[in-house]
Amino acid sequence: MAMLEVKDLAVNYGVINAVKGVSFDINEGEIVSLIGANGAGKTTILKTISGLLKPASGTITYEGHEIQKEKAPKIVAAGISQVPEGRHIFPGMSVKENLQMGAFLQSDRQAMAESFEAVYERFPILKQRLNQDAATLSGGEQQMLAMGRALMSKPKLLLLDEPSMGLAPIFINEIFEIVKAIKEQGTTVLLIEQNAKQALSIADRGYVLATGEVKMSGTGQELLANADVQKAYLGG
Ligand code: ATP
Repeated sequence: MAMLEVKDLAVNYGVINAVKGVSFDINEGEIVSLIGANGAGKTTILKTISGLLKPASGTITYEGHEIQKEKAPKIVAAGISQVPEGRHIFPGMSVKENLQMGAFLQSDRQAMAESFEAVYERFPILKQRLNQDAATLSGGEQQMLAMGRALMSKPKLLLLDEPSMGLAPIFINEIFEIVKAIKEQGTTVLLIEQNAKQALSIADRGYVLATGEVKMSGTGQELLANADVQKAYLGG
């Protein structure tokens, strides 16, 4: 059984049909990537999985339970955590306070301390900047903070929305390395990216979306080698 199964998902904004009957699944331990141009519906799918949007139709089944009608905090508690596009860190709060916000469901002090240690180990730079205002971090560091904040709830499934967006090339490589390492430590990842080449290189499987529909799917390597994918998304 897949960890997450999205079936015939349709999501509308008023009269706009942003997602039109999308189906895909994610197995435990995989990195699955959704790629596609601006406006293809990727962010909408992610927000629907995390409970921020409600579908017009279709189901989202997580560990055998339908979650498409659940509220966002319940979905976080079940083990799904999202890193939003644009990071949305809390400016005016320290790095440490931002991380604490990610553990808002955590009441056990010992578990909280373990979450902090795991995040410091993954992102040593955050440990050096703990008391610094999060707004003063570089773009790459803010992305690490947003990922660290999501990891504070010890998710089983991490949803990443365009983690490489707007970053300098050196940080882009680092972020993809970190995503791979997060998977290797046992967290399943759904990765949304416009940077299709790097996303597919680290993905076990991928789905190509266009205008709210899945156009193609395969292993990361199959999609990288596909002539249509190369032409449309990999710059020839
Ligand atoms: P991006 O990379 O820009 O985030 P995307 O593939 O994630 O693109 P979505 O953001 O999911 O695409 O958008 C899918 C469609 O829904 C687009 O046509 C978009 O214009 C529309 N859309 C997104 N958000 C809203 C909104 N709040 N109100 C109305 N339409 C929206």
